[in-house]
Amino acid sequence: MGDVTRSTAAELGRRLAAKEVSAVEVAQAHLDRIAAVDERVHAFLHVDTDGALRAARAVDEARVRGDELGPLAGVPVAVKDVMTTRGVPTTAGSKILEGWRPPYDATLVSRMRDAGLVILGKTNMDEFAMGSSTEYSAYGPTFNPWDLARIPGGSGGGSAASVAAYEAPLAIGTDTGGSIRQPGAVTGTVGAKPTYGGTSRYGLIAFSSSLDTPGPCARTVEDAALLHAVIAGHDPRDSTSIPAPVPDVVGAGRHGATTGDLTGVKLGLVREFSGEGAEPGVSAAFREGVDALVKLGAEVVEVSCPHFEYALPAYYLIAPSECTSNLARFDGVRYGLRVGDDGSKSLEEVMSLTREAGFGPEVKRRIILGTYALSSGYYDAYYGQAQKVRTLISRDFATAFEQVDVLVSPTTPFVAFPFGSRTSDPYQMYLADLFTIPSNLYGGPAISVPCGLSEGLPVGFQIMAPTMADDRMYRVGAALESALPPLTPPPL
Ligand code: GLN
Repeated sequence: MGDVTRSTAAELGRRLAAKEVSAVEVAQAHLDRIAAVDERVHAFLHVDTDGALRAARAVDEARVRGDELGPLAGVPVAVKDVMTTRGVPTTAGSKILEGWRPPYDATLVSRMRDAGLVILGKTNMDEFAMGSSTEYSAYGPTFNPWDLARIPGGSGGGSAASVAAYEAPLAIGTDTGGSIRQPGAVTGTVGAKPTYGGTSRYGLIAFSSSLDTPGPCARTVEDAALLHAVIAGHDPRDSTSIPAPVPDVVGAGRHGATTGDLTGVKLGLVREFSGEGAEPGVSAAFREGVDALVKLGAEVVEVSCPHFEYALPAYYLIAPSECTSNLARFDGVRYGLRVGDDGSKSLEEVMSLTREAGFGPEVKRRIILGTYALSSGYYDAYYGQAQKVRTLISRDFATAFEQVDVLVSPTTPFVAFPFGSRTSDPYQMYLADLFTIPSNLYGGPAISVPCGLSEGLPVGFQIMAPTMADDRMYRVGAALESALPPLTPPPL
């Protein structure tokens, strides 16, 4: 049978369809792999063994009956613990939600179940998706399969690490400022942020609602596109969901991989992103990626996006501001933790004690930052200014996309860093998303594809496309992937 945990999702789907292997065997092989390595990787907060085997059996039975099944039926997937899963613990990496079992599935979780995907469990993350390393998870960090002394990125480090460690062929992440792409980059995997509104936020525990975007993590561009196609599309339960057909991301990826031809494709190099910012080894690997795309026929055009340098400060006003209202619902009354409810205290005291005990330091920092930025005397100076900057960044993208088809940059300024090296200065942690945040503020899709190593650690190549042109980033991403040697982490 070979080791099914090394297969891509596309290959697994084909082998399942050909009945060479059963969904139960595939699920069991991944559960065994989790049992063997997750003590060291800690990608999972919860492994749903029974649920996974039950779902796998249902797919096998459907196959025997001759039901028509999708290309990922029977393929396992890991889900970031920020998506609600009916009856399965969901914590968002926070103590305040410990023990909470949601009464419903997120839209994309039910879409995956309908497509026959087998959910293995819930993955670790920075608390409420705030962070770039999983060091802010209330349940301890995830370890990078490339080097267990280093961070796997964040906030979706668990999802990326589960895929890199062959615990799951596919995973779901969410990207508010880079939390799919940055973990993808530092674990040598593929991470895609779809167009904002292209994937439903219904059932996603909200951090910053105007930025949050769920998307796929995988080991290949094709696999990411296959999962993207399952989870994307209009959802009437999400008022910001786009009522338009999903671009043909799977077809575009296959076209890019099989022809490898990028004749006529214009790549925009963002002037403001070159030079300072990225480590020399990251810049070198990125340049090799650009050279590979040029060999495939792409043309490089330098473009200017003068407001990108204000993206990081604008994000750190907008995201914390939105989080203050989204996190107000965690009050000890509705969900999870309740502290001090001994009959002697007022409701306000119980709420305050619950929030004091339930939220970690980074979440508290964001709530304080956001409350300040929204306060009546400062609203115009901070939040209002940041929204204006957001408009200017969107205009930079619009102008750039009049000249080029996609924008490219390194995904992150640096490779995976050692634990503890950036927690003492929040700004150092925030810098991890220097190159990813502009796409969130604008709303367009962006993907990170591995492009070689620096100091023996993976580097990510980011491809940003116009809104609703998600297919374009898959085409260029697949072409890049086919031109570069694959990255394989050292054995665990
Ligand atoms: N690292 C960024 C932050 O801390 C982005 C997080 C995300 O995309 N969820 O806010």
